[in-house]
Amino acid sequence: MRLVLLGPPGAGKGTQSARLVEKLGIPQLSTGDMLRAAVAAGTPIGLKAKAIMDAGQLVPDAVVIGIIDQRIDAPDCANGFILDGFPRTVAQAEALRELLARKGIGLDAVVELVVDDTKLVERIEARSRDFGGRRPVRADDNPESFKTRLDAYRQQTAPVSAHYAQKGELKQVDGMLPIDDVTAAIDKTLGH
Ligand code: ADP
Repeated sequence: MRLVLLGPPGAGKGTQSARLVEKLGIPQLSTGDMLRAAVAAGTPIGLKAKAIMDAGQLVPDAVVIGIIDQRIDAPDCANGFILDGFPRTVAQAEALRELLARKGIGLDAVVELVVDDTKLVERIEARSRDFGGRRPVRADDNPESFKTRLDAYRQQTAPVSAHYAQKGELKQVDGMLPIDDVTAAIDKTLGH
């Protein structure tokens, strides 16, 4: 199964992806994780992406499109994959459609976790309070960058769900439910 998981930062995409990985036996492809790995390894892409990511802005479309295009060719993606954090702009969604078509494949489902904005800000503020002044686990997990990430989401990523909705491909799930209920709703949407 080839799946796209959409939803704002803090919506629980990571948690739900991990469960889908277990259940479906396909890899989760998180552009955020791949970019963080590039930063940690100090590759040219990582060096370019670090400041942009720390500020909570989006790295250029061409960079993430290139990463995904290559990654999908790996043998572990032969039976499918879960895209998490990609596509994040309409241009990325269009590029994804083209690159999959070029490989002779397509998406099976696009699932959006729908959550309340106010709740997201509360979640991230609670998370940064929990750090108690210690260094956050992620450089962009502080209230300032989080607000920028949420703005980037509203301006650049919200149109992605509209794009898939227009094509009749979008399935929405209530992301405000307890974790297990969100999992059950996703399963139902995917027909499991
Ligand atoms: P979250 O969903 O928690 O905001 P991610 O781990 O998905 O975080 O992404 C972290 C950062 O990596 C983003 O704020 C952005 O800078 C960059 N990034 C990840 N995926 C993309 C993408 N598809 N396009 C552009 N930038 C991306």
